[in-house]
Amino acid sequence: MITQEQYDAAVAQRKDAEQVINDFHKQRQEAFDQRMKAGAIFTDDELYYSATSLCPCGHGLAYPKDCGAFHYWDCSAILKGIADMSVQHTDQLPFSMYDVKGESDYRGTTRGVFRPRTREAT
Ligand SMILES: [Zn+2]
Repeated sequence: MITQEQYDAAVAQRKDAEQVINDFHKQRQEAFDQRMKAGAIFTDDELYYSATSLCPCGHGLAYPKDCGAFHYWDCSAILKGIADMSVQHTDQLPFSMYDVKGESDYRGTTRGVFRPRTREAT
């Protein structure tokens, strides 16, 4: 039989653990926000790509793996600092408003994809 003392000790332990977990996520989020504010450049390994959705520029949509739940899909070329700024790019697409399918083994990926729209000959 578990005693009231054992139960109380377990509850206190859980509270302490939750505090550590919350602080951990908060610190990670703050570090991420700082990095974004500083105009972060990400590597492919740091990005999670869409399965099939492309930016109008021809690169895949992506977001940084370390971002929080209120982030957005963006052009992977912009995130990597290799975007041609003379062509059109996607708006930032908040997770809450856009259901973009993420890459997976069976859905595929836009990682490494570059399919620029062909420009009409003039
Ligand atoms: Zn783009």
